[in-house]
Amino acid sequence: MAGKLYLCATPIGNLGDITARTLECLKQVDIIAAEDTRNSMKLMTHFDIHTPLTCYHEYNKYDKADKLVGELLAGKDIALITDAGTPAISDPGEVLVRKCQEAGVGVTSLPGPSAVITALTLSGLPTRRFAFEGFLPQDKTERREILKELKDEYRTVVLYEAPHHLINTLSELNEYFGDRKLTIARELTKKHEEILKFTVCEALSYYEHEEPRGEFVLVLEGRDRQKAEAEKRAFYEEMSPKEHVEKYISEGMDRKTAMKQAAKDRGVSKRDIYNALL
Ligand code: SAM
Repeated sequence: MAGKLYLCATPIGNLGDITARTLECLKQVDIIAAEDTRNSMKLMTHFDIHTPLTCYHEYNKYDKADKLVGELLAGKDIALITDAGTPAISDPGEVLVRKCQEAGVGVTSLPGPSAVITALTLSGLPTRRFAFEGFLPQDKTERREILKELKDEYRTVVLYEAPHHLINTLSELNEYFGDRKLTIARELTKKHEEILKFTVCEALSYYEHEEPRGEFVLVLEGRDRQKAEAEKRAFYEEMSPKEHVEKYISEGMDRKTAMKQAAKDRGVSKRDIYNALL
């Protein structure tokens, strides 16, 4: 019978945040796959866990996932842990999960700490809907595309960032989003935990005098829907209804759809547009 993969969330700073179920699982499985075995040794030593460790990280994630699936199919139980937090969130875990599921291997998750949820709940920004982006891509074109997409995002946006990229990312947020509210959650659950409530510009000024150190989550206010709609209406009201409809037709829309879209943009009925075009 095949074994099972257990995704084990580990503390993001405070060792007391490990769950009783995770500790038991780490002791009982045959192998623990860890992102950084040296780093995870501290956790193992602290909790007196002697299960063999093997490394599974960004640079071996495809080949190693195949090997781990082989072990699972041969009947071994494996726990996956990452450097900190919930495996498969902004780390190589998702590849292993997918490969296990493709091979028909059972996967279960033992929930626990994750920096995204911890930061979001402390942000004071709307939490009902949020968009988690993880790390922005390093590739410039891809990064620009994502930032452009996010500019129109109404939900609260959560980003991970490394200290040495923080200032650059804050400048980009200012360029693309303007001076929105921003909560910076730093060193969560650790001794020097800080929840800094800023606007993007205030954060930039703050880090002119303060070297960014530690681990960061950025929680950014989403686009203001009412303001955005008022801006859009003001933009369209500068055109006549005829110019508005023609703009859409020149972009490839048929006349009926263009009239419908123009009515929607201007917050008026289709009949109003029709009458204005007569
Ligand atoms: N899988 C992890 C999770 O569930 O949160 C995230 C792994 S990702 C490789 C690491 C990033 O998470 C860090 O660069 C930082 O942005 C964020 N992070 C992790 N621990 C944190 C902490 N204690 N305080 C603030 N941010 C943290």
